[in-house]
Amino acid sequence: MPGITERLLYRVAKRWIAGYSLEDAVKVAHDANNRKLRAILNRLGEHTPDQKLIQSYTEEYLKLLDRIRAEKIEGTISVKPSQIGLAANPSLYKSNLLRILEEAATDDEFVWIDMENSPYTEATVQTYLEILPSYPRLGICLQANMKRSESDLKNLLPRGGRVRLVKGAYPENAEVAYSKRSDVDANYLKLMKTLFAEGDHFGIGTHDGKLLDKARAMARDFKGAFEFQLLKGIRDDLKPSLVEEGYRVSEYIPYGPEWYNYSKRRMRERKRNVLLLLRSITG
Ligand SMILES: Cc1cc2nc3c(=O)[nH]c(=O)nc-3n(C[C@H](O)[C@H](O)[C@H](O)COP(=O)(O)OP(=O)(O)OC[C@H]3O[C@@H](n4cnc5c(N)ncnc54)[C@H](O)[C@@H]3O)c2cc1C
Repeated sequence: MPGITERLLYRVAKRWIAGYSLEDAVKVAHDANNRKLRAILNRLGEHTPDQKLIQSYTEEYLKLLDRIRAEKIEGTISVKPSQIGLAANPSLYKSNLLRILEEAATDDEFVWIDMENSPYTEATVQTYLEILPSYPRLGICLQANMKRSESDLKNLLPRGGRVRLVKGAYPENAEVAYSKRSDVDANYLKLMKTLFAEGDHFGIGTHDGKLLDKARAMARDFKGAFEFQLLKGIRDDLKPSLVEEGYRVSEYIPYGPEWYNYSKRRMRERKRNVLLLLRSITG
């Protein structure tokens, strides 16, 4: 039985996650589809060197792909490298990712790779580049707070890389990352311009109204394919209007008992979320 603090936190966190189980995730994916949003399902959990856990996370993604196919869910999965082996060793990560991709390929399913904190960036990008020629329906996340993302993007695009652009959720040091919000936003805009100029099949992963307006303006002359990607429970007001405007929109839906760290990140992003928590405690 979870303690009182966990139960109160969970009450707030529930807006950002589907729940504890794969069944919860499948149900929320159908809900998203009913709102004309595609679903990007992510099993929470990261940074694990534990071999048993790594195998069970990998197998869970295989099950998820199976359910997506069987229930005709419009959507896909997004995996965290350090969840399926990268925190143990890169070759284990690569072989587990290949297992997932083989399963996805049976139905031409697209797979996304999340980007984690900077110790994992190089191996994540390198493994992506190694695998991409055999599995072109594979996308990777790049973070605008990371100084290296500009050169990663320039490197990935000519090779057919498909990129989800986000601001970056992990605290990083000044050597590798921009820390001022204005610098991160400026870099996001710069990378987004590159995506609209040279990219195709990319994801604009932000809830930032100013950047979204700029993306809409750039989309007017863009002939390729892209989608907006937003997190479950954030800017729900915006999602139907983007759909109505005719854009393809995906909702990223995490689930799993490891919801606490994910929710802490969402709290950190906005002071008002801490107020939500306090309100849930005070009833
Ligand atoms: C689909 C998707 C996938 C992602 N994948 C990754 C990944 O693989 N790696 C990674 O490091 N990060 C990932 N992120 C998280 C991302 O890096 C940011 O932490 C997160 O999106 C918040 O940044 P923002 O672009 O919305 O801008 P912000 O400047 O943080 O927010 C802009 C506006 O959005 C709204 N908003 C933002 N966050 C919240 C919140 N928590 N609660 C309520 N309102 C909020 C507010 O109106 C705010 O003013 C992903 C984000 C999305 C949307």
